[in-house]
Amino acid sequence: MKKREKISVIVPCYNEEASLPRFYRETKAVLQTIDSADYEMVFVDDGSTDQTLRILRQLAEEDSRCRYVSFSRNFGKEAGMYAGLSEASGDYCVIMDADLQHPPSLLVPMYQAVHEEGYDCCGGKRCGRDGDGAVRSLCSRLFYKIGKKLTHMDMSDGYGDFRMMNRAMTDAVLKMKEYNRYMKGIYSFVGFQTKWIEFENVERAQGESKWSFRSLLSYAGEGIFAFSAVPLKAAGIVGGLLLAAALVLLLLKLAAGIFRLPLADFSGIGILLIFLFLLSGLQMLFLYIIGIYLSKDCLENKKRPIYIVREKK
Ligand code: UDP
Ligand code: MG
Repeated sequence: MKKREKISVIVPCYNEEASLPRFYRETKAVLQTIDSADYEMVFVDDGSTDQTLRILRQLAEEDSRCRYVSFSRNFGKEAGMYAGLSEASGDYCVIMDADLQHPPSLLVPMYQAVHEEGYDCCGGKRCGRDGDGAVRSLCSRLFYKIGKKLTHMDMSDGYGDFRMMNRAMTDAVLKMKEYNRYMKGIYSFVGFQTKWIEFENVERAQGESKWSFRSLLSYAGEGIFAFSAVPLKAAGIVGGLLLAAALVLLLLKLAAGIFRLPLADFSGIGILLIFLFLLSGLQMLFLYIIGIYLSKDCLENKKRPIYIVREKK
């Protein structure tokens, strides 16, 4: 008889005491309707400071299908997802947010897509951003537009981490062991056949989003600097243009002096200062960009662990 397949649901949790009980109830109810597959839930406590770990211990105690990994501190959702995927033993792995913003009901058509329809992966594509503020939603749309151009990878708005992957794709994602992780880029890098199912954006069930505007901005930078070298090339192009402009201005000044032409008045010390400031400002900016790449490379070379477990069951 063929071995029964297993779905692993991976749930990164950071201070989710308010959402967890409902998440567990609703997700379990959906998983139980999938007759042809068994399931497990792998929770990752990402250094929560509330009762999250206590709830996870209790779930693992009461339900043998629940397991957890608890980090020694907050390592971030990217590390949480990596840990969950590493611990999961299922034939299919799906990452879900604990706040029920990823509707559990989608697990059924997702499983059908990877189990019956021959896809390697089936993702939920979020439509609308009703739960988010106007500025935040505009910024994120803008980021994905620029990001796509810079990285040549499909990291479009709405395509999040909520996707069910088969074992081949999961293993490919796990092979990407970089320390500076950006999952959207990683999914796009590994490829595989993906089906998309749209779902309406819902507000989080309980608690608050763990992302501040600043952390989102830094995450966006992560995506671009981890997957694109275009900013570095831009430094070269702009630098070249500036040098050419400076050369032209110098020649004009020399010509004006030699031929006594009333070309333009470059004599003002003010103008010189503005140029100096402009040039050194730009140099600083590009030095900063180079610094970012160097610091990322430095972290990669340290081969630091992506996460550290304090307790697991
Ligand atoms: N999360 C995490 N570590 C963090 C921040 C968030 O594990 O440092 C988890 C969080 O508990 C939730 C998921 O990642 O299950 C998505 O976080 P959140 O709902 O705050 O993000 P948003 O939906 O606002 O993008
Ligand atoms: Mg959320």
